[in-house]
Amino acid sequence: MIVAATIGHAGRPSRWADRGAVFEGVEETSAVRRYTDGLDRELRRMGHCCVLLSDGEYRDQWGRADGYRAGVYLNCHVNAGGGDRGLVLHDHRSARGRALAETVAAELDRALGWPCQARACRPDTNGVPRDADFSEAFGTIAGVRAVALCLEPYFLDGPRRGEFLGRLDEVGAAVARGIDGWARAA
Ligand SMILES: [Zn+2]
Repeated sequence: MIVAATIGHAGRPSRWADRGAVFEGVEETSAVRRYTDGLDRELRRMGHCCVLLSDGEYRDQWGRADGYRAGVYLNCHVNAGGGDRGLVLHDHRSARGRALAETVAAELDRALGWPCQARACRPDTNGVPRDADFSEAFGTIAGVRAVALCLEPYFLDGPRRGEFLGRLDEVGAAVARGIDGWARAA
């Protein structure tokens, strides 16, 4: 199976300077690159193909993922705001997305020392930013044909950030195991 993964925030011509969250000198994009590197390595070891996308608007990247006939599309981030959990977000319209999110969240939860949960994301319903609609996440995955997730495996400024930044390979490998398990069960 082909998995297409976007380095969140990176390489968008409309926001060329965006590196996502920054905390204590660590940029979100660099942490994402490191866990997608682990993802790529583990997926290849399992016999899957990983295409890493790191330039173009998200809409263009969805088109490229579709062009590659990717079975799974990931828009990869690290959260900010001081939380102590991971989130795996799926399109609220997709039952397969929900199943994939639950499998990936379970692998992350098992591998890491903090709770990781699957949640649906949807367009904003009430004008409140950053609430349980997760509308920002929805905007990163809403238009791709592949089964899609927005990944937020931890918080860049969370209390266990040191441990998180030391285990980015394991984060990527856990996501890969979740995708592989979901693909085998499908
Ligand atoms: Zn982000």
